[in-house]
Amino acid sequence: MSADLPPRRDHVVAAVATTAEVLAHQELDADMLAPWEHRRLDRIRVPARRDDVVAARLLLRLCASRFTGRAPDAHELIQFCPECERYEHGRPSLRDSPRTGVSMSHAHGLVAAAAGPGPVGIDVEPSTRRPGPMSVLRRMLPEVDLEAAVVSQDPGPGLLRAWVRREALLKAGGAGLPLLEWEDPGRDATAAVASAAPVDVLPGIAVPGSR
Ligand SMILES: [Zn+2]
Repeated sequence: MSADLPPRRDHVVAAVATTAEVLAHQELDADMLAPWEHRRLDRIRVPARRDDVVAARLLLRLCASRFTGRAPDAHELIQFCPECERYEHGRPSLRDSPRTGVSMSHAHGLVAAAAGPGPVGIDVEPSTRRPGPMSVLRRMLPEVDLEAAVVSQDPGPGLLRAWVRREALLKAGGAGLPLLEWEDPGRDATAAVASAAPVDVLPGIAVPGSR
């Protein structure tokens, strides 16, 4: 994680922020979202959750911008689900840059996004969250991750880290990809990125005075 270096084309650009930080970011505006994204948002009843989804989609555009060098609103985000063969849900990508891998995540006022050269997956959760129950985790998590978490002093944080790693790998679509995992204590966030490329975590999402 090289926070002070400018992003490079052979690195993944990743970011974690609060929803409030993204919504206040001067380079970002909900008007950047496509009509189909707004239609999806209209179906979300809980305002806080709608804000999280808007923020994740905006942060994805910011990461894409830092990766491609183009403006955040220059990217057309699409989603395609190969199972239903339908657009507007499923794995995100950029219509104008199909080989760029992008990913986003949102959870309870936190958002994360990543863009890079090839498949990438990101997940964020509040650090206080405790995934469970065990019966579900046993089904979902690799045996080795589960064992390591349970035998650790406080299994809660270990299980959460195992969970975000799993989610990041799933979104990247590749078991066996290298994982970068980190805690953001200022935002109470635990995040993981799965990618074959090195990852630069974007500094400076915070807007002065917004927190
Ligand atoms: Zn589907």
